[in-house]
Amino acid sequence: KSITTDMATLTRELEKYARDKKREIETLKIEEEYRREFVGNVSHELKTPLFTVQGYILTLLDGAMNDKTLRKKYLQRAEKGVERLIYIVQDLDMITKMEVGDLNLSYSEFNIVDVVQSVFDLLEMKADKKSIMLMFDQKYIKPITVYADRDKIQQVITNLVVNSIKYGSDDGTTEVGIEDLVNNKIIVRVKDNGEGIERRHIPRLFERFYRVDRSGARAEGGSGLGLAIVKHIIEGHDEKLYVESEHGKGSEFSFTLEKTK
Ligand code: ADP
Repeated sequence: KSITTDMATLTRELEKYARDKKREIETLKIEEEYRREFVGNVSHELKTPLFTVQGYILTLLDGAMNDKTLRKKYLQRAEKGVERLIYIVQDLDMITKMEVGDLNLSYSEFNIVDVVQSVFDLLEMKADKKSIMLMFDQKYIKPITVYADRDKIQQVITNLVVNSIKYGSDDGTTEVGIEDLVNNKIIVRVKDNGEGIERRHIPRLFERFYRVDRSGARAEGGSGLGLAIVKHIIEGHDEKLYVESEHGKGSEFSFTLEKTK
């Protein structure tokens, strides 16, 4: 009898071992697939600007170098390509750190109104090029002090405003608003009246490298990582991130923050 019991226990244990191993292999397979996809995406993102830069250099070597105006024009374009590469690598660096949980938030008290203002100052020229008006309601003359990582929140607002310009319509507007919520929270909204996003894309928008229109988005530059970075930063703060959009009408991205008491 005891042998039968032992056999039954042994069989159960063996079965459990096999199940655990199978699960482990499944997880490894998913991770491997994920890594492969990541590397594939990265090389794809880097290829376009690299070929652009190479193209300008080859044209220069081919004779354009002897023409003073062409020389300057092509060198400037090559430099733009290198600048894009730097942005992509910086974004990649950030997202990789964030994905291993290395967010390193450094909390302090700061005035969120100042942060919006500096983002606007930095992006004014970019907006001007598309005749997009950056609006921040004048009622925010009083400071609104929040407790968060200032640089990271500036990055969030920058990414959202950059997108509102990239996917905004010419002569459109980008409007930033701040409102009080309950429980000492505020909500920061970034709203545009640009191309908007079809409903079916919304659930995947914050995935890294996800783009609604792959060709169109690439023409506008960017790494496809902007919103993934935004999501990591806001969730790292234990705050909420929302998106509302209507295709052809515009989008609104918003997130919450904690005010200082
Ligand atoms: P990208 O570098 O492509 O801009 P993001 O992660 O910042 O990458 O955004 C992902 C995609 O979400 C974009 O490619 C675009 O299709 C869509 N998107 C983001 N912001 C907006 C917006 N304000 N209006 C319309 N579409 C947007």
